[in-house]
Amino acid sequence: MYFLKFLFSLQPLYKNVFSIHETANTAPGTTAFMHSNYVRNASIPTSCHFTVDDGKMSYQHLPTYETGFHTGDGSGDGNRNSIGIELCVNSSGDFSKTRRNAAVLVRKLMQEHQILIYNVVTHNHWSGKLCPANLLNQFDSLETRLWIQRYQFQMMKK
Ligand SMILES: [Zn+2]
Repeated sequence: MYFLKFLFSLQPLYKNVFSIHETANTAPGTTAFMHSNYVRNASIPTSCHFTVDDGKMSYQHLPTYETGFHTGDGSGDGNRNSIGIELCVNSSGDFSKTRRNAAVLVRKLMQEHQILIYNVVTHNHWSGKLCPANLLNQFDSLETRLWIQRYQFQMMKK
């Protein structure tokens, strides 16, 4: 952990971790578009960088170099150094598609930002919050690592 902190301190402008979230809003129709409008509202203290749903579009709400408030650790490493990605859990959506879209987005961003798979963590990692609730119990397992890497591999072959 100290080594990671050291690395973080060297790159204050470049975030080198992804924090994965779920919106925790299961109301029908609470898509990435709806969530994007919600988090861009200035009166809401929470902000993350991307929101993904089961559709064709992902929404970016913040430039990746800007600090969001999504990991619950104040001015700690989570908020300062990670790019927040929210997965929609609306009951009208297909979560397996959302998961796949998130994997594609994370893979693309990993390449863009030169971020390794080991630096893809959960909101829970930073503050203990039960988030992303649906993915948490499998996040550290090989399966979850693979769902990201599998898409990475498929994209590389194209
Ligand atoms: Zn979260």
